[in-house]
Amino acid sequence: MDLTDLRPNETRGLVCAHHHLYSSLARGMPAPPRTPSSFREILELVWWRLDQALDLEMLEWSAKLGALEAIESGTTAIIDHHESPNAIEGSLDVIANACAEIGIRSVCSYGVTDRHGPDGAIRGLEENARFLSSGRRGMVGIHAAFTCEDETLVAATEMAAHFGVGVHIHVAEGVDDLGVEHRLADLSQDNWLLVHGVQLPDDHELRGTIIHNPRSNMNNSVGYAAPQRFKLPVALGTDGIGAAMLDEFRVAYARAREHDIAATPETAWAWLEGGYQLVPEALQDRVIWSEEPIDPWRLAFHTNIRPESVEIDGQVVLSDGVATQIDPYEVRAKAAEQAQRLFMKLDGMP
Ligand SMILES: [Zn+2]
Repeated sequence: MDLTDLRPNETRGLVCAHHHLYSSLARGMPAPPRTPSSFREILELVWWRLDQALDLEMLEWSAKLGALEAIESGTTAIIDHHESPNAIEGSLDVIANACAEIGIRSVCSYGVTDRHGPDGAIRGLEENARFLSSGRRGMVGIHAAFTCEDETLVAATEMAAHFGVGVHIHVAEGVDDLGVEHRLADLSQDNWLLVHGVQLPDDHELRGTIIHNPRSNMNNSVGYAAPQRFKLPVALGTDGIGAAMLDEFRVAYARAREHDIAATPETAWAWLEGGYQLVPEALQDRVIWSEEPIDPWRLAFHTNIRPESVEIDGQVVLSDGVATQIDPYEVRAKAAEQAQRLFMKLDGMP
C-alpha cells in the first residue's frame, strides 16, 4: 500500500473480495441433521439447507448485519456472491439496498446453479441480468462448475460479456470440482474471480484473479490453496465468515507461514491490496485506526487494533467506532429476530 499520502494511523478502505452476506444470520444455527464427513456434505447439510430457507426479509437483515460489521472492521467494499433458491427475484436489489443504507460499496452477483433443475438455473441467470440491466454494480455469479451443466456455464459467460463484467465463481474449492480447469479453459477471462482454487494445478491456464479465503478453507478442511504458486493476481475474501479483512490477512499470513517458514506478512498484505484491482474506488476511502503505525509486520501480530472512523466516497459512515447512517442497535435487534425465524424454519426442514 502506498502510504505516502496517508497519516500513520490511516489506511484506504479495505476490500472483501468474496463474501456471502446471506450467511450473517447463520451463526448459532441449529446443528445439521448429522455431522458432515466431507466438504460435499458440509454444503449439502449446512449451506444448501440454509440458502433454501431464506426469504427476502431474512436476507435484508442478514445483509444489513454483514454490511454493518464490515464497516465496523474498516472494510468499505464487499464483492458478494448470493444464493437463495426460494427467493431469487429481487434478491440482488435487497442486498445492494442494504449495503447502500449502511453506506458501503457492493458488487453483487447471483450464483447460478443447476442444482434445482434447469428452471432454477434460468431464474438465477435472469436475476443477474435484471440487476445488471438496472445499471447497478455487479458481476454474473456461478455457484461452481460442478453444480452446473456446460450450457449454463456458457450462458453465464456470454451474459457477463454482454454486460461487460466478469464472472464470480467458486473454482476447485474441494475435490468435487477436480478438473474444472478443463471445463472453464475456453471461457475464463481476465475479469473473472476464481474463488478458492485449492485443487487447481500449479500450471492451470485459467484467467482471472484468485480469491484466497484461508479461514474458510481451513474450516472446510479442503486444504491449503497456496495462492503464491499461481501466476495470477490474488485478493482476499472471507467466504461469508464476517468481513474483518485485517483478521483474514492475519489468518492468510499464519497459514502461509505454517506452509513455509520463510513466508512474510508482506505477501499476505499484497493479497489484501489485490482487492484494489477489483474495486479501485476503495482507494478513495479512508479508515482511521486506533493505533499506529500501519505496518504488515506489526498488524500480523497485533489483534486488537480497530477502526475509529471510516469514510466512504466522502461520507463518514463510522465515527468513534459507531455507524452513522443507520441505527446499529436496530440492525442487530432486527437481525436477531430474523435469525430466530430462520432457525425455526431450519428446525422444521428434513
Ligand atoms: Zn464462497
